[in-house]
Amino acid sequence: MSDKTIFSKIITGEIPATKVYEDDIVLAFLDINPSNQGHTLVIPKEPSTDVTETDPDILLHIMTIGQKIAKAQRKALGATGNNLIFNCGADGGQEVFHTHLHVVPRFSDDQVFQPPKHTSYEAGEADIVADQLKKAL
Ligand code: 5GP
Repeated sequence: MSDKTIFSKIITGEIPATKVYEDDIVLAFLDINPSNQGHTLVIPKEPSTDVTETDPDILLHIMTIGQKIAKAQRKALGATGNNLIFNCGADGGQEVFHTHLHVVPRFSDDQVFQPPKHTSYEAGEADIVADQLKKAL
């Protein structure tokens, strides 16, 4: 992947960001257009395009820090819920192609997200789909 996404420039300091946490493996900073105030992005310093490409050990650390930030959103900002989201690929809503975890603080009736679309399975279809997934694991 290109080293020069916006997030790579934030890591190198070429673009400023409001940092929340940093260590050797990840950087966490406030999203510039937050869904709610305190919406934080956790990114690996080693670039990967999206979560399907991220080293599993690094992914574990991203999630560990995401959990800490979610707890801090509840403690410091009074959040009563959180969403931890990876958008993966353009069709998954990803716009910046450097892996990032959104940690969004949620509040009662804040209406941040539309209700998700739901579909269903015809008889036997769920088993077929599950088999396809199991074979690909
Ligand atoms: P995506 O849609 O790729 O999952 O989310 C990218 C996120 O990055 C968006 O929520 C957007 O607001 C945020 N973002 C884009 N450019 C910048 C920037 O220059 N600085 C910061 N702090 N956030 C950014």
